[in-house]
Amino acid sequence: MEHSKWFTKKFIVAILVCLLILTTGNLYAEEEFIFPNPVMPQHAKITPDSQMYIVGAGLAGLATAVYAIQDANFNPQNIHIIDEKSYKGGALYSEGGAKGKVYSTPGARLLDEIAHNHFRWNFLKRIPNMAEQDAMEKLDNSPEALKSYTKFKKTISDDMEDYFKTHHLDGKVRLIDKDKKIIDAHKFGLTGGDLWAVAKFLYFTPERKIQDKRIDEVLPPHFFKTNFWAMYQGVFAFQQWHSAIECQRYMLRFFASISTMTSLHTEMNPPYDSYNAWVVPTVRYLKSQGVDFVMGTRVVDVDFRPTTDEKTITMLHCLQQGVAKDIPIRRNDFTFISIGSKVSDVKIGTMHKAPVTVQVDHPEDGAFLLWQKMAAKQPELGNPLKFTASPDHSEFVIWSCTTKGKVWDRLVLDLTGNKRMGEQHEIVFPDSPWRNIFHVPWQPFVPNQTPDTTIIMGMCEHCGNKGEFVKKPMWASTGEEILTEFSHAFGWEKELPEIIKNSEMTVYYEPYVTSMFLPRNMFDRPKVVPNRSTNLAFIGEYTEMPEDTVFMVSYSTKSAQLAVHQLFDITNIPITPPVVHNQWNPYWFYRGINAVLISSE
Ligand SMILES: Cc1cc2nc3c(=O)[nH]c(=O)nc-3n(C[C@H](O)[C@H](O)[C@H](O)COP(=O)(O)OP(=O)(O)OC[C@H]3O[C@@H](n4cnc5c(N)ncnc54)[C@H](O)[C@@H]3O)c2cc1C
Repeated sequence: MEHSKWFTKKFIVAILVCLLILTTGNLYAEEEFIFPNPVMPQHAKITPDSQMYIVGAGLAGLATAVYAIQDANFNPQNIHIIDEKSYKGGALYSEGGAKGKVYSTPGARLLDEIAHNHFRWNFLKRIPNMAEQDAMEKLDNSPEALKSYTKFKKTISDDMEDYFKTHHLDGKVRLIDKDKKIIDAHKFGLTGGDLWAVAKFLYFTPERKIQDKRIDEVLPPHFFKTNFWAMYQGVFAFQQWHSAIECQRYMLRFFASISTMTSLHTEMNPPYDSYNAWVVPTVRYLKSQGVDFVMGTRVVDVDFRPTTDEKTITMLHCLQQGVAKDIPIRRNDFTFISIGSKVSDVKIGTMHKAPVTVQVDHPEDGAFLLWQKMAAKQPELGNPLKFTASPDHSEFVIWSCTTKGKVWDRLVLDLTGNKRMGEQHEIVFPDSPWRNIFHVPWQPFVPNQTPDTTIIMGMCEHCGNKGEFVKKPMWASTGEEILTEFSHAFGWEKELPEIIKNSEMTVYYEPYVTSMFLPRNMFDRPKVVPNRSTNLAFIGEYTEMPEDTVFMVSYSTKSAQLAVHQLFDITNIPITPPVVHNQWNPYWFYRGINAVLISSE
């Protein structure tokens, strides 16, 4: 009996391997369809006086400045980064957490050991770590000296790699059902029908055929009831109404994660949260080089040279602290513009105040509005309305809780059997009306966090539904009400008074956070350097880069490097590494299939 089971398993794997080999290359033949050779007029040329205006001090904007300095040798003192916010980092921003202060952030991040390759290998390695920057400053404080200091001994990539050696996730509890029972997440629950549909979707469905389609239009209803989907959705924030194109790209890129879905063992965290680990040292490095940050300034519109032969920006119209200000763009100046933002129009609540009382239904921040204006003026600049038309399909709520005392540690470690806070990471409640997700980061989460505080986080993807215990949408709930809903879902009613007494909450309502996942066609996102551009590049998650997956820091850094290389005609430095194709890697293919087969035994 055992022998025949073994044989059947190997036989299925063999058939699938044959299919795999037969279909190699099937999907990416599409690349040419998306990108016919662009017509390139002469790009502007870098002169000693060239100025560079980067709109957005999020990761994409910061990375653009780094690549311009390091790859294009652009004079850092002529680089201006403009942002309408008072803070740098965009979606990566955080504040508080140190010395007992309340922690606050619009999001936390996981990096997959394999899939986040561009960010890991081509961005983090460019930034000296804080100790190295201290040493550089002691050596000589002049910008010339810092500029000549090109070989960093220790980078923020080294910090993360070192941290990963001792901080591996080991999720022992991943799913909890409506009766507060732990679900055996190793049972993916996928049927033969589900597997066949997924195989067809991944290996035989070119992107051209799934334009504007939702995931639930290409995968069967049962697939969305499985534990596999509950975990997948929790980690990647997909909903069944999201774009089939994006889901396909994710499934292909994260193929290797199938076998680690239950433990999250290959997911990396930096020491501290993303802001402290990545943004703070990057901003410090850029400032030391002389880069100019222009904060509190919104770019509201641009002028193009009046011709259809080229796309040349001649003016940025800004509002600086409410006052109109125009920035002329001269012949050899350059513009790199962040279009759209997943943290556009976020609203923030506290322990006793809900983020909003009515749902947001249109963007008011600059990111989408500027893109709308530009797209209305020139062809081939995408279709921003596709991403802002339905906030009820792109919203979620993220909260962070700063707690004095060790109540969370006691409850979480008891429940999971893990030894350290952070080892556990993400727990999903698939049946809860808000679709609660509970996330336990490694502690300390920020520098100078006092040992008697614990910071934990949670999010809800169906935040417009009424809760089970708190009968209102999550975006209309206070921090205290959110803690009440969560504690009931875990069965921690008894501990609730202690939790509430010792906790402070920050609650972010994010209406456009998954807007990049909304169904789209192949032309809804503009190219990084649009056809016929002379001095304009787009950066960030609403640009189109074939095969690549949005909602990832790698996408923002790669768009930045591509923008710099294409606009400055840099061809001697490769943009590596390319997107991984593990669905054709026999090792990962075997491990993935094996995990699926074991989970259905
Ligand atoms: C909840 C959440 C969870 C996440 N989880 C992960 C994860 O696990 N792994 C991962 O890899 N990534 C994750 N991400 C994604 C990652 O944070 C983003 O991909 C990345 O930070 C985006 O950077 P960006 O610069 O492209 O955009 P943004 O961070 O959105 O920055 C854009 C900036 O441009 C400014 N701006 C735009 N237009 C204008 C204008 N007209 N005038 C002035 N300023 C303007 C905005 O104010 C903003 O500061 C997550 C994000 C969130 C929100």
